[in-house]
Amino acid sequence: MSFIIKCLDCGHNAPYFPTSTTCPKCGSQWREAEYDYELLGKTLPEKLKARQQDLWRYRELLPVRNPNISLSLGEGFSPLIRAVNLGMMLGCPNIFIKDERQGPTASFKDRQASVTIAALKEAGITEMVAASTGNVAISYSAYASRAGMKLWAFVTSLVPAVKMREIALYGSQVIKITGSYDQCKHVAAEFARQRKLYLDMGARTITSIEAMKTIAFEIAEQLTIALGPEENSQMRTPDWYVQAISGGMGPLGVHKGFREMQQMGWINKIPAFAPIQAEGCAPMVNSWKKGLEKAEPVTNPKTRIETLATGDPGRAYEFLKHHVDSTNGVFESVTDEEAIRAMHVLAKMEGISAEPAAGAAFAGLFKLIRAGVIKPSDTVVVNCTGHTMPAEQGILGENWARDVKFPTIAQAPQEEGLLSALTQVAPERFPKIVIVEDTLEARRLIRRILQSQGNFTILEAENGREGLDLIQRELPDLVILDLMMPEMDGFSVIEALRSNPETATIPVIVATAKELTPDEKNRLSGHIQALLQKGDFLNDEFLDEVKSLLK
Ligand SMILES: *Cc1c(COP(=O)(O)O)cnc(C)c1O
Ligand SMILES: [Zn+2]
Repeated sequence: MSFIIKCLDCGHNAPYFPTSTTCPKCGSQWREAEYDYELLGKTLPEKLKARQQDLWRYRELLPVRNPNISLSLGEGFSPLIRAVNLGMMLGCPNIFIKDERQGPTASFKDRQASVTIAALKEAGITEMVAASTGNVAISYSAYASRAGMKLWAFVTSLVPAVKMREIALYGSQVIKITGSYDQCKHVAAEFARQRKLYLDMGARTITSIEAMKTIAFEIAEQLTIALGPEENSQMRTPDWYVQAISGGMGPLGVHKGFREMQQMGWINKIPAFAPIQAEGCAPMVNSWKKGLEKAEPVTNPKTRIETLATGDPGRAYEFLKHHVDSTNGVFESVTDEEAIRAMHVLAKMEGISAEPAAGAAFAGLFKLIRAGVIKPSDTVVVNCTGHTMPAEQGILGENWARDVKFPTIAQAPQEEGLLSALTQVAPERFPKIVIVEDTLEARRLIRRILQSQGNFTILEAENGREGLDLIQRELPDLVILDLMMPEMDGFSVIEALRSNPETATIPVIVATAKELTPDEKNRLSGHIQALLQKGDFLNDEFLDEVKSLLK
């Protein structure tokens, strides 16, 4: 492994030493590692074939001289999961989730911590200071404990108590700062300066950017397996990389990873970057939308998603803006509510429980698809940056469990106690919905979307004739109806329903892939409550319609 550290401001090259954090020539803190790409481009692919699937398989491209396996917790090479249900719902079949929840401490900070601690250990450092919105401190603590290093973890008081306790459990000293994350970073920096301790510099830490870039390498390897190589037989890259950001270290590193693969001749296309911020703390999004070259800091962040609360991104914005603009990407923001709702959709449709910060990335994805920025044919990788551990009360809301209490033995015999307990489990009557739709996938999709929104009794029919019978028998609260079906089409079903007094007032939502002629629209008008195009289901319209019709 041979590399140099190049200054991004004056171009000066210097050897690497983890504790020297500025350019010896101009004093800049913005520098990055440079490797022999021509050589590695040729020699590395063969070596990769025989290597274990973790982050250290790219060791020639990492700034650690002797990767120390005794520090490793198996970091890196998280699965790339195809989001089949989300893809159907959004009408965008090639959505992949880079599941960084599966890192050793359940967030993508494990990459940063594993590489940084390995480099510090190699340099003989035994004590360090880091400011964190939670996950960095958890991850650094885990690796620091393996390396026998002491960590002083400065966290804001907004960090959930369970996360703070996990940091302490690893043996780190937790210092709780009541103030913004930016203020927390200042206190940590002053503490490190006074005690002459190593301070983590966030996105300006060489090892952090180098660690994050492995996400790009893995995406290219995994996507090439999932979809096959590009036509020119180079490795496959997505059209979009979507990630929720705070300070922007992730996308800065990931962009460098794609750039390096391009320099090594492995790929010829870098994806468009879509960094997503929380609306209440979106200095980069706001500055980008105003066309500013330098970020305007947000001094008083107003988001409950503490993981994303960097108010002053400093120069990270200038670099990230360059990457977003040069790849034809976009910065976008989402509200806390949108992020939490996306979290629910992701959990209920894909079985993935992500923390609100990661939820923001998915809310951003939904927004960009709806706006037509991300196209149905695009291949998208969304970084699912961290796990919901644990799910906070506010995220779940009320009534998420049924409380069953056995009466005491004195009050009732055993048998009766069981019966009475079971009546408490049994659901009250849920709104009944009939789905009439001939394709199995579409029925499954509508069912899932409905289930992700609440408790319904859902019945299905696969053609118009069967549907009509079912509706007449069950008298549901709502019908979701396709138009083009065998046996009896949707138009005829509606006519039959409307001419029978028992079914005349049951609300109907038509969901169809068909472009309707004016004549067909006339036939439906006045007889149905809503008309929706398929592939457009995450449309708030659909869910709002369902909810309002079930009142
Ligand atoms: C740190 C973190 C982010 C933000 O990452 P940056 O790339 O550093 O802005 C997003 N999600 C989770 C879960 C995080 O821990
Ligand atoms: Zn310099």
